[in-house]
Amino acid sequence: EIQVKGLHKSFGDNEVLRGIDLEIGQGEVTCVIGPSGSGKSTLLRCVNLLEEPTRGQVFVGGTELTDPDVDIDAVRRRIGMVFQQFNLFPHLTVTENLTLPQRRVLRRDRARAARVAAENLARVGLSEKADAYPAALSGGQQQRVAIARSLSMGPEVMLFDEPTSALDPELVGDVLAVMRMLAQEGMTMMVVTHEMTFAREVADRVVFMDGGVIVEDGTPDRVIGDPAHERTRHFLSRLL
Ligand code: ATP
Ligand code: MG
Repeated sequence: EIQVKGLHKSFGDNEVLRGIDLEIGQGEVTCVIGPSGSGKSTLLRCVNLLEEPTRGQVFVGGTELTDPDVDIDAVRRRIGMVFQQFNLFPHLTVTENLTLPQRRVLRRDRARAARVAAENLARVGLSEKADAYPAALSGGQQQRVAIARSLSMGPEVMLFDEPTSALDPELVGDVLAVMRMLAQEGMTMMVVTHEMTFAREVADRVVFMDGGVIVEDGTPDRVIGDPAHERTRHFLSRLL
């Protein structure tokens, strides 16, 4: 479903991604781990072309995003992205946050957008907050709204960049539970995270990045439980 081939990305002289090859099958959950500055966010942002790769190819659902002739807006609609910061519109209610992008981008009518919003709010367990404003919600609830907003666009794949890193520890569990539900439903997911328990329990695959390359790629039991490389061991030892 997601294919990355020979991906390079430089910012000026700084080569941040130095040849990434990765394939994520439909329904697969891949966690990306690695030290700060290793290029995890840049990789994720290249997968939906928020950053333009310097070299290499990205395919999502068989469509090459890096093809200059591709309608990037159309492809991007098939890719949901959730960031560390939730980026909800503060002056809109929860429901309005979910309906606005559906109406603007997908041209859905009011009734359909409202129905999809209600469905997805229920999925993340926040139906009772439909008319609340973001400021009245906890960080964990805001992040679940951001996930519901993304789901309302009907994405084929979901990208998560440290979705729980900005949250108080007691709020992390609810967000991870929603992600776990999505994984069980068969959503194709790429998740940058420091949550090793989540990675071990939910990921089909763990990718360890360092210095802009993939150092290790395998099952969670292999990469986290029995890392082959010194760099992976060193990284994990500092987390635990
Ligand atoms: P963290 O764990 O801290 O989030 P990361 O693995 O996500 O780190 P990236 O954000 O991908 O790392 O950054 C990798 C490198 O790319 C860093 O050296 C960073 O300074 C550089 N970088 C990222 N985005 C830009 C940008 N827009 N312009 C210039 N340099 C950038
Ligand atoms: Mg990052």
